[in-house]
Parts: sequence; C-alpha cells; structure tokens
Amino acid sequence: MDLQLDAAQAAFRDEVRAFIRERLPTKLRERVRKGLRPSREDVVAWQRILHERGWAAPHWPREFGGADLGQMERLILVDEIQRAPAPMPLHFNLTMLGPVLLQFGTPGQKRDWLPRLARLDTWFCQGFSEPGAGSDLASLRTTARREGDHYIVNGQKIWTTYAHMADWIFCLVRTGSESPRKQEGISFLLIDLKTPGIAIRPIRTIDGDHHLNEVFFDDVKVPAGNLVGAEGRGWEITKYLLGNERTGLAYAGTSRDRLAHALEIAARTREGGARAIDDASIRSEFAWLDAELRGLEIANWRLLLTPSAQRENHAFASVLKLKGVEIQQQIAALMLRVLGPAGLVRADEHEGERAEMAVPATRYLFTRASSIYGGTSEVQKDVLARALLG
Ligand SMILES: Cc1cc2nc3c(=O)[nH]c(=O)nc-3n(C[C@H](O)[C@H](O)[C@H](O)COP(=O)(O)OP(=O)(O)OC[C@H]3O[C@@H](n4cnc5c(N)ncnc54)[C@H](O)[C@@H]3O)c2cc1C
Repeated sequence: MDLQLDAAQAAFRDEVRAFIRERLPTKLRERVRKGLRPSREDVVAWQRILHERGWAAPHWPREFGGADLGQMERLILVDEIQRAPAPMPLHFNLTMLGPVLLQFGTPGQKRDWLPRLARLDTWFCQGFSEPGAGSDLASLRTTARREGDHYIVNGQKIWTTYAHMADWIFCLVRTGSESPRKQEGISFLLIDLKTPGIAIRPIRTIDGDHHLNEVFFDDVKVPAGNLVGAEGRGWEITKYLLGNERTGLAYAGTSRDRLAHALEIAARTREGGARAIDDASIRSEFAWLDAELRGLEIANWRLLLTPSAQRENHAFASVLKLKGVEIQQQIAALMLRVLGPAGLVRADEHEGERAEMAVPATRYLFTRASSIYGGTSEVQKDVLARALLG
C-alpha cells in the first residue's frame, strides 16, 4: 500500500503484516499465490485465526464478533490479506449477508447469525441467479408460498458458487404481489441446505474446476422466521447487497500480488534460454499495468473512505468492479505471455513440477468469468451511463 498513512495507521499496517507473517500457514500462502483454490478446511481455519483478533469482520461491532475498527483500518487489513496473499474471509458471509443483517435484520437475527458468520461456523452461499434471471434479476421465478408459520419454496437457482460446500443459502424468492412491477413481491429468505427437497448439481466450468452449481427446491419447508426484512420488500435489500458486493470485487491487493508474481516469473529464464523481462513490449505492459493498478487502488480507497450515504447510489462501485476486472484479466493474460507455451496447459492436465506453470492458464480461464459474476461489464456500463453520466 503506497498511499500516505499517518503514524498510527502505519503502525496498524505493521501489526497486521507481522500477524499474517506469523499465523498464515506457509502451505496455504503458497497455494493461494499459485492461484490454486484453498479447501473449505483451509478457509475456515484461516478465518478463525483472523476472528480471534476480531479481524474477520473488523468493522462490525464487537458484540457480533467484530473489532469496531474504522474504515481506514479495515482497508489496510483487506489490502494486507490480499497482498500476503491469504484467503479473504468468506465474501458471502462478510460482505453480503452480514451487512444485510446489520441493516435489515431483527435484533434476534443479528444476535443469532452475525457471530456465526464472522467465525464461519455457518458457510452461506448466494441464491440469486436463475435460468432467465441473471442481469435481469427481478425476473426471478422461484416462489415461496406462505403456509402457517412456514414458507414452501419451489424453483431453481443457478451458478451458485460453493453451494456444494455451503451449509445455508440466502435466496431471493417471489412471495406474491400481482403488481406489474416485477421488483415488487420479492423476499429475502435464509434456507438451511440440509432441508428435505433441496438438490444440488455441479456445473463444470471452462477452467476444469467445480465451484458452480445448480440448486433445486421442491416443496422445501422454511420457517417464516428466516425471512429478512419485510415480506415483498427484498428488492431494497438486493440493491444494498449488490452495491456492497461490487465494492468488494475490485481485488486491488490481489492484483498487486499477482502482478508481482508475474514479474518474478518474467525474471526467470524460460525454456530455450530467454527471459520474458528482456522483451521491451513485455516490460512496457508491466509498467502500464502497474500504473493502471495504482489508479484502481486510489479510486478504491477514495470510494471506501466516502461515507456510504454520499456514494452516488453505489454507482461508483460499478467503476471499481469494471476496472478491477479488466486489470485482473489483463494480468492473467500477461502471465500467459510471460510463460510462453508452458502456460498453455490447464492445471488438471498437468502434473508434478510443471503444475505451477500450468496454474496461470487455469486462472486465465477463470478470470474470463470475472466480467460476468457480480453483474456483467455491460451491465456495469449501463449503471454508469445512467447514474454518473446522466
Ligand atoms: C463464476 C461465476 C460465479 C457466479 N456465482 C454466483 C452466485 O454465487 N450466486 C448467484 O446468484 N449468481 C452467481 N453467478 C451468476 C451471475 O450473477 C450471472 O451470470 C450474471 O448476473 C449474468 O447473468 P446471466 O448469466 O443470466 O447472463 P445474461 O443476463 O443472460 O446476459 C447475457 C449477456 O447479455 C448481456 N446483457 C444482459 N443485459 C444487458 C443490458 N441491459 N445491457 C447490455 N447488455 C446486457 C450481458 O452482459 C451478457 O453479455 C455467477 C456467475 C459466474 C460466471
């Protein structure tokens, strides 16, 4: 992090660095650095280490497992975790559901859920998208019919990241309303994935990995107390959540680490004797990406340090998502240039010593998806055109 920090902030950054150096298992760090997915056990163990210090959810109140830290300390922490590099605390729990419960949950829901989310006692996944309802999310058709003190849920979700590893899912469901405005009549429901009537099927992606799923609901009985916010007013929650989700997707610290990793590899001798860094066009790509990334870092900090009420309806979060994704994709592409032919193999097709070289190809393929999830780049541009450019 190269922005000017005052003495107390610099001391906090040093404290975080020392903590991560001491507590982050080397194997896990190496795994993340290579771009390999950490296991569920690794993510849980690391989040609990952070949680001991209140650093899994640093900005939450202490009573809910946070540390009451200010926005600046939170930013320093996120930046240091991404640069370490270490796994980020689970996005679904910390950046999505947690803030929603803090804002819209009942006192009982806050008390019951927030500490479990922070400690990762319960792993949530996000059940928003459906076939036919992605960018146009308000067209969703999964229904929840009220019967006594339960809802009966029927329908299907798709592209559900880590549903196969999760314990619970937060879902958007249609609870009624004959209103012609499709944003009305949507509700936000928490559902235990062990409830009878739920089936999860894997989707294999182009990177050869299994992280996405389809989730089917067939007469699934959900206690009415699992509703968050008022029935039929889930769209308001959705907009709030998506604004937070996009803010978390810039991954500037991660890109900083990946650019540094690419540079390390560029300075090594490739098969055939040449070093990628000796190629002037590759050097200029590094310089250009370094400058782009510096711009993203500054914009990211500027947004996150702006009080949320002044954040122009979260539209600026779309700038960060858009630009952050472009940079992630460009770094992944540069890594492939640096590696030359050795980079053109997927990790699952490669074994032994050369597997490290193969991971960037897998990562390159995965980063193609980053301009789709969390709202596609085209949709972000629509948001910007309307909200910022008028
Ligand atoms: C790796 C990955 C992980 C994901 N994880 C989750 C998850 O955990 N939970 C979840 O709920 N969802 C998840 N998603 C789904 C993701 O949110 C949707 O894929 C995304 O919102 C796009 O929706 P869609 O796939 O239906 O495409 P569509 O909305 O059908 O879009 C198809 C194309 O049309 C373009 N388009 C659509 N509308 C417009 C418009 N108004 N103006 C201009 N162009 C437009 C899009 O940009 C895109 O190029 C994930 C997706 C991916 C790829």
